[in-house]
Amino acid sequence: MEAVSLAMPLELGKLLVDGKEEDAVTGKTIPVTNPATGEQLTTVPDGAAADVDRAVGAARRTFETGVWRKMKVSQREKIIWRIGELIEKNKEELGMLESLNNGKTYREALRGDIPPSWDVFYYYAGWARKIYGETIPVDGEYLNYTLREPVGVVGMITAWNYPLLLAAWKVAPALATGCSMVIKPSEMTPLTTLKLARYCLEAGVPEGVVNVVTGYGPAAGDALARHMDVDKIAFTGSIRTARALLKASAESNLKRLSLELGGKSPNIIFPDSDLDRARKAAFWGIYANKGEVCSAGSRLLVHEAIYDKFVSELANLASRMKIGDPLDPSTEMGSQISQAQMERILSYIEAGKQEGAQLVCGGERDTEGAKAKGFYVKPTIFAGVKPQMKIAQEEIFGPVLAALKFRDEEEAVAIANSTVYGLVSAVWTRDIRLAHRMAQKIKAGSVWINDYNCFDSSSPFGGAKQSGFGREMGAYALDSYTQVKSVWIALE
Ligand code: NAD
Repeated sequence: MEAVSLAMPLELGKLLVDGKEEDAVTGKTIPVTNPATGEQLTTVPDGAAADVDRAVGAARRTFETGVWRKMKVSQREKIIWRIGELIEKNKEELGMLESLNNGKTYREALRGDIPPSWDVFYYYAGWARKIYGETIPVDGEYLNYTLREPVGVVGMITAWNYPLLLAAWKVAPALATGCSMVIKPSEMTPLTTLKLARYCLEAGVPEGVVNVVTGYGPAAGDALARHMDVDKIAFTGSIRTARALLKASAESNLKRLSLELGGKSPNIIFPDSDLDRARKAAFWGIYANKGEVCSAGSRLLVHEAIYDKFVSELANLASRMKIGDPLDPSTEMGSQISQAQMERILSYIEAGKQEGAQLVCGGERDTEGAKAKGFYVKPTIFAGVKPQMKIAQEEIFGPVLAALKFRDEEEAVAIANSTVYGLVSAVWTRDIRLAHRMAQKIKAGSVWINDYNCFDSSSPFGGAKQSGFGREMGAYALDSYTQVKSVWIALE
């Protein structure tokens, strides 16, 4: 695996408004840093309401004139496909930017972030020509049919853990359905979203259809959420921000929302499963991307007959994990995104100890050598965790696993469903009837049987309960970027 080298510092980031690269109206900027070293990589504009307003104006104009929406669908299909090709062509650079800006390993970025980002454009390119309505039999002498129309101008607000991928999951179906858009990436990780918007232009998306305003949540994000000319917000982030977005919608134009929020996902191990495979999956289920994953398997539910052995073998693996320089191909876990996030994780570890959970590995910051400059946390496991403890209820978003014991199917289901979240879940068993019963009883957007973190551009992803609503990927995502119009023709 060859790592590309990028010129340092990187070129200055700019807003992309109506096809032009611009500074914020105020001229203010936000530093973009590498959390693994503390170095500043570049700056991006500190966009706010005036910038959002220009970007929404461009998106609205392109939507109403129909430069994209009414373009020949076969041509739109080719352009969307080409965006995928540009991502694929630039995979090393994008992987490197993601690693430098987020602290994840370059290896993970190259495998986990970039390929699904290009694939989702290939997937939705094919949809551009296949979004159509129905003819409906109705009483009386009428022809009734439906049109599936693009929802309009979409505001996209994304989190920092998979910056390019979270944007790609929104931009690709929005383009396929004919929407125009303004993206507000996380203030911490804006770089690959700016690249994506440039690729859209390069591929042939007309100027003003895809706009990017970098900036902070309470300024640029809130302005987008409250804008009267934005028809929908597609959001990935925390429950706290989701509440603010719902309120902003209620207080502005009742724009619709799709919300991809957090999780506290149960990974449930029955004793009859392939335990070696389950252990490996439990390991990467929590430690991939340093635990900063919405679908992290952060609650490990193990049957009492195998609990002690399973947890101690997992702790053994975790304590041998190689933490360090994200660009070193042998590194398994990089730096947390920021000091604030690291402190948040450490405070949960403290809470776990206070509540009487048993710390079996990790449990502290790693400051060995060059790691002192970054925000590294050792892979941590708590055993003896009770379902109501804070570390079993709240999303930590770090490399901290809560291991709980269960007696039988009924108790496993009760524990699995005992949080406010319902994003994903996994069940390990060779008993096919048990597997299907569990799949029916667990309240979550995905249930993985005998595997963890299964994703595909064709398959819907999203949450139940407070993990959100709406789905990304698959045919289901098209629903949230279209609206249905019913047309009646009196035949007599
Ligand atoms: P966050 O909610 O703090 O920020 C997300 C985005 O919202 C950022 O762009 C931020 O600037 C913006 N924002 C913040 N306050 C805002 C406001 N008042 N108005 C408008 N926008 C605002 O979340 P985060 O810390 O970036 O991300 C972590 C969270 O994201 C976790 O809860 C994680 O589980 C979740 N997440 C979910 C998925 C999923 O697909 N379900 C994927 C990744 C992350």
